[in-house]
Amino acid sequence: MGFVHGLKCRECGREYAVEAIYVCEFCFGPLEVVYDYEGIRKVLTKEKILSRPHNLWRYKELLPIDGEPTSGLHSGFTPLIRADKLAKIIGLKELYIKDDTVTHPTLSFKDRVVAVALTKAREFGFDTVACASTGNLAHSVSAHGAAGGFKRFIFIPASLEHSKIIASLVYEPNLIAVDGNYDEVNRLCSEVANKYPWAFVNINIRPFYAEGSKTQGYEIAEQLGWKVPDAVVVPSASGSLLTKIWKSFKELKQLGLIGELNTKIFSAQATGCSPIVAAIKAGVDVIKPVKPDTIAKSLAIGNPADGFYATQVVRESGGFGEDVSDQEIIDAIKLLAKTEGIFAETAGGVTLASAIKLIKGGYIKEDSLTVLCITGNGLKTKEAIVGHTIEPYHIQPNLKSFEETLKKINER
Ligand SMILES: *Cc1c(COP(=O)(O)O)cnc(C)c1O
Ligand SMILES: [Zn+2]
Repeated sequence: MGFVHGLKCRECGREYAVEAIYVCEFCFGPLEVVYDYEGIRKVLTKEKILSRPHNLWRYKELLPIDGEPTSGLHSGFTPLIRADKLAKIIGLKELYIKDDTVTHPTLSFKDRVVAVALTKAREFGFDTVACASTGNLAHSVSAHGAAGGFKRFIFIPASLEHSKIIASLVYEPNLIAVDGNYDEVNRLCSEVANKYPWAFVNINIRPFYAEGSKTQGYEIAEQLGWKVPDAVVVPSASGSLLTKIWKSFKELKQLGLIGELNTKIFSAQATGCSPIVAAIKAGVDVIKPVKPDTIAKSLAIGNPADGFYATQVVRESGGFGEDVSDQEIIDAIKLLAKTEGIFAETAGGVTLASAIKLIKGGYIKEDSLTVLCITGNGLKTKEAIVGHTIEPYHIQPNLKSFEETLKKINER
């Protein structure tokens, strides 16, 4: 009943049947899901989408599952917030925040990809799910895997934020903290995935998993009244989300659900881990791996799997990229909080701080309708801003003490 034709190599175009595989046997290129868009066009109308519950499965014909969804039934359809106060400060006429800090059960956009990956893992008949994570994926697979009754092996760099480790442990998965960075964890997981019959959501299930990110793009278009923005700023780790937002807009255009597609896609990274943005700035498509050193741990992938494809999307769409320092990340987290009341994790600080630079540099114009993808909640990376916030006023439990303080506050 699904609309998936099969898998196709992004490099040589060779086609494969639907299986838990992710690279081409001939050229080692990554595999991508191919759909029957003619079939989808016949059944998927705006009316049908609008009649469905507010979760990411309202676009299920465009997701790579065969039966009904079995995970993530409460994930997605996060708010798109018009941010006029922030827009004024950073120099834009019309700005929106795609707010993935809320609504998702584990408070980051990773619930989108995990919904699809776990539904697919069940269709394939796996009883164990696993992942290599920079933090948010660990949290999401731990939670949704528990709800789905899967055995879970979660691999993380041991140096992750304490908040994210605790957030995963509460669901009691097998959490494997590796003495190494994400790229080392990922390499280890590729070996484990070859040996054990587990659904590694971002390794052997990756072609299906990655499609879940498209739902962020569909929602943006629907929430803007079936049109796409002029500019989207996307935080990039592996580069997958960025490529999938572009794919989602192209699909909507192909299906006749939106009109014009003139969106410029921008990549945002931390300077301490910016292999994709460095390639964009240098005008090359060879990604030079780096050793990450940044507070934006959720984006700390030094050797990004989809980096090359991300640079292609940025070029094809006419976008660009920017990278920002840890201090700029912290300042942007605070700016978003005090202007729009949204507390984002470090990746959100990267997005806003990069957008500010892209506007100053003239890459995003004042009259461009712009969307910032804010992908995770600030309570998950509290460590990053400890010592960088204002202090509380300390008083004694009596009115006199309060009023002395009130006087000082009013004299400020
Ligand atoms: C994983 C992640 C991203 C981006 O991931 P890609 O690998 O580029 O798809 C962005 N923001 C947050 C908070 C994340 O956890
Ligand atoms: Zn190939």
